[in-house]
Formats: sequence, C-alpha cells, structure tokens
Amino acid sequence: MISQTAPLWKQILSQSITTPKSLSAFFEIDEPALQKVTARYPIRINPYYLGLIKKKDDPLYKQCIPDIREIKDKNGVDDPLNEEGLSPVSGLTHKYPDRVLFLISSRCAMYCRFCNRKRKVGRSSMVTEKSVKEGLSYIRSHKKIRDVLLSGGDPLLLENQSLHSVLAELRAMRHVEIIRIGTRVPCTLPQRITHHLVNMLKKFHPLYIHTHFNHPDEITPEAALACERLADAGIPMGCQIVLLKGVNDNLATMKNLVQKLLRIRVRPYYLFQADLTKGTSHFWTPISKGLEIISGLQGHTSGLCIPHFAIDLPGGGGKVPLLPKFIVGANKKSLVIKNYLGQEYRYPLYDI
Ligand SMILES: *Cc1c(COP(=O)(O)O)cnc(C)c1O
Ligand code: SF4
Repeated sequence: MISQTAPLWKQILSQSITTPKSLSAFFEIDEPALQKVTARYPIRINPYYLGLIKKKDDPLYKQCIPDIREIKDKNGVDDPLNEEGLSPVSGLTHKYPDRVLFLISSRCAMYCRFCNRKRKVGRSSMVTEKSVKEGLSYIRSHKKIRDVLLSGGDPLLLENQSLHSVLAELRAMRHVEIIRIGTRVPCTLPQRITHHLVNMLKKFHPLYIHTHFNHPDEITPEAALACERLADAGIPMGCQIVLLKGVNDNLATMKNLVQKLLRIRVRPYYLFQADLTKGTSHFWTPISKGLEIISGLQGHTSGLCIPHFAIDLPGGGGKVPLLPKFIVGANKKSLVIKNYLGQEYRYPLYDI
C-alpha cells in the first residue's frame, strides 16, 4: 500500500482498477470474457475517472472499460502508422524532417480502449532506460530536429526528477527549438498537475502541451484547475481529440466539447480520424462524419475552437488535414465559394 503522505495523484493512481474482477464491483460485466481481453490489453481505470462515468455504456465508460470486441476484431493492424518501421532507434519515430516523436514513458493514468499504441502501452518493455538514452543520443546527433514531441505512454506519469532530466538534456541541445509534451493527464488524472510540476515545466520554455479530451463530461472543475495552472505557467495548450463512435461522433457533443475547451484555455488542435488499429474497429466512423462535424462548426462558432480534422495515413504517410468542400465551382474569371450558410459567392480572379 502506498503511504498516506504520498502526493494525492499517486494515491489515486494506486487505487486504480487493474482487473475485471475489481471492475465487477461497479458494473455488471462478463468477467471471464473481459479477462481474455485484459490478458492482451491491460486495464487501468483510476477512481477519479471512474467517478465521472454516469452509467454503463456512456461515452466515458466506452473509453476505459474493456470490450470483448477488442480481441475478436478482424480489422486493422497492430501498428497502423508503421511507427516501428520509422524508428531509427526503439521508441523514437522520425517521420518528418524537422521533428520527432519520442516515447519516454510506458504508463498512462488510464488505458484507453481505442489507443493506437495499445500493442504496447502499459508494458514495461515499451520504454527502457536504454531506449531513452538512445533516443536522446539520436536527437543530439541529428541537428535538423528542431521540435521534439514527448509521448508514451504518458510523459507526465514519470517522476518529476526523471522528466526533469529528459527536459534538461533536450534543452542543452541548441538545435532543439521546441519541446512538446503529449499527455492525457489533465483529463484522466488532473491532480498530477501540481504547483511543483508546473514550476519545473516552466523552466523549459518554449514548451507546449498537447492534451487529449474527447467528451465534454471530462471537463470538470479539477481538469479546469489543472489547465489553468499550466496556462498560467505560460504553456500553450492544444487538444488532440479522437473521433470515436458512440463517444463524440455527433455535432452537438463536439461543439460543446470544443467550446468548453476554449473556456479552460485549451485550443482544439487536431480532430483525428481514428487510426486503423487492431482491436478498435468498434470505434471507427466514416470519413463523412468528421467532415460533417467540421461543416457544422466552421462559421457557426469561433474559429479559435475549430480543430484540423486529420487522418494519420496508414503505413506512416503522416497527418493530412481534410476539409469539407468550400470551392463549389470555378472558371477562368472566378471561383464560386460556399459560405457556412450554404450561400454561394463569387470570388473574382484577376490576372495578377
Ligand atoms: C503527430 C506526429 C508528429 C507531430 O505532428 P504535428 O503535425 O507537427 O503536430 C511528429 N512525428 C510523428 C511521428 C507524429 O506521429
Ligand atoms: S493516454 Fe494516450 S497513450 Fe495512454 S492509453 Fe490513452 S490514448 Fe493511449
């Protein structure tokens, strides 16, 4: 048992549900079936997030409670973005010329059922001391890398000290201009965002945080406080939302989510088409759904809260934004462009 004087976030984390058996105290589940799922893909639901679930099968339930369909899935592949193939050293993906994705933690505050790294999150072999060391050497010797995106697992589940040492090493490399941290902790364990952590992070500017909320019910007073602390420390916050069937695949929910995010000073950055990860196809939506949601946001609410709807191309082609069709006609003299109300306007083309 963890000591009562440990920080609150560690106490919460230590009380997480990690077996279907303990889950059965809260919900009516098929325990033997879920055991088969968790033998392959781990479960972790901490009491904070569990407390946000209102009822069985609601949008928060679906994100964290294992589902037998995960192991019956015939669609998708384990590594849809070919991260392994694009990793010059284990745990570091170098896909774009000027930036890398660097995994520095194996653990998360919750294991999301739709995770595109479900093949390896929660396994201690995912990130090791050796892989972090090799990742840092790779970045040190590749001077074209000006932007490092730390991810995992969740980097904010590391101890402050370990995180500090990675950040300090990166900051000592003059070619690394920007550091970003991808973390779901402001949503799944906001108590982790302590004054102590924030005071440490702000020494490493320019530092950006990409967090991850998928539903308006995740935006609680605790999450708002966590984001306020980060924003007050001068850390620009973006949100990467994943479009998920039965969770947020309708305009009303998405509009409420993006507007609430702005109120807690988090700017919606990406809305991702769900990756084609094996074990997650019950969450997939057609491309038309994302386009329809963007059409319903664009013009109808602040441009500040409209994310880029993007597909991360299967096989490692990278992220590509998709937009609804606004240019509806063209000739030599003008373009015909549709506005958010569906009205057509002509935009004259001058010979310039
Ligand atoms: C998403 C991602 C990045 C960052 O992409 P941005 O569009 O710059 O946010 C970098 N490397 C990899 C491998 C990625 O998957
Ligand atoms: S927090 Fe992110 S990395 Fe961790 S399980 Fe959820 S989606 Fe995957």
